[in-house]
Amino acid sequence: MLKFVTFAVKTQLNVHDLNNEAVAGNVMDIRMMEFLDENGKRQEAPAVSGRMLKHWHYEAMRHLINNGPYSAVKLCAGCRVGEPIRPGEIVNNNLTQVAKGEEDAIKSCAVCDIHGYLIAQEAKSESEEGEEPTEDIQEEARKKRKKREVGVSARRSSRAMFSWLMPVLGSEALTRQVIHTRVSQQQSMSGGEDKAQMIFNKSYASGIYAFVSALDVERIGLVELKLGASNHYAVDDNNGRKDRIKVAIEAYRYLISGQMGASLSHAIPHMKPLELVVAYSVSGPLPFPVSPMYQDYLSQTLGLMPEGTTLLYWGEEKEVPGVLKKAKIDEIFSELIQKVDEVDEQK
Ligand SMILES: [Zn+2]
Repeated sequence: MLKFVTFAVKTQLNVHDLNNEAVAGNVMDIRMMEFLDENGKRQEAPAVSGRMLKHWHYEAMRHLINNGPYSAVKLCAGCRVGEPIRPGEIVNNNLTQVAKGEEDAIKSCAVCDIHGYLIAQEAKSESEEGEEPTEDIQEEARKKRKKREVGVSARRSSRAMFSWLMPVLGSEALTRQVIHTRVSQQQSMSGGEDKAQMIFNKSYASGIYAFVSALDVERIGLVELKLGASNHYAVDDNNGRKDRIKVAIEAYRYLISGQMGASLSHAIPHMKPLELVVAYSVSGPLPFPVSPMYQDYLSQTLGLMPEGTTLLYWGEEKEVPGVLKKAKIDEIFSELIQKVDEVDEQK
């Protein structure tokens, strides 16, 4: 059975506004990121945060469940409508975060299961108190840690992990500011004709980008607190776990297609995937792949992965020993989905 899968993606994105993060829920507005090139020299270029990529992975899952072939997969009220209130329930006509046990939370929602959550409780504010230096800093840190443990007891870590989307080193990264106008259809606006035509600036970027991601398949449906028990899965292979894994894998197709940031209504990136490396294991966890932002990432990834790892590659690189080259990206997804279905065959 599939236990762990990693993705390393290199894609060209022309004229995008994906890193306009102010509009994507409660994430920060970060447009530019500093980093080092392969000679250790400082560079600066537009980048898209891993939070943004994670958000759009969730959006793709939500779309596939609400409107696609995975309608049997369960979502809580918060995740169904795309609100970051997890786990959510409708209480007195209001969407409310409910403090429930991990097993309940996992059973009732695939996104709470796979993307994790943090239930804010009273102890959270205690743990944030007082940044003033104290005489015994270690003792203070110990106390704070203890308080935090109480406060975040209802926390589940994400099974899906994402890097930032970064420019491939050595490629050019371009940005251009564009003036847009928004024309009001109302003739008698109170501010007069000047105000009827609103002028605003937006920046668009172009470049060749890379991101890496990992999906900890084995821990989907797993209740951490029940690890010693004979069945530590709240959702198992006979009651929906396989569909959850499949929808989480399928969601990556949408990320690769450029559905991973802001302004998609009027600035779908001119996307062209260049390379995709998928590593998967049927025996245990894998390290993260080397990022395609570096030139020799494929051979380095191959050198890093433990024995028994399967590496799939799509792109222009010639045959590399130890890596299975695929003619289409779809073949890679088909193989992953097939590995999820193999669960039954082995039992
Ligand atoms: Zn949920």
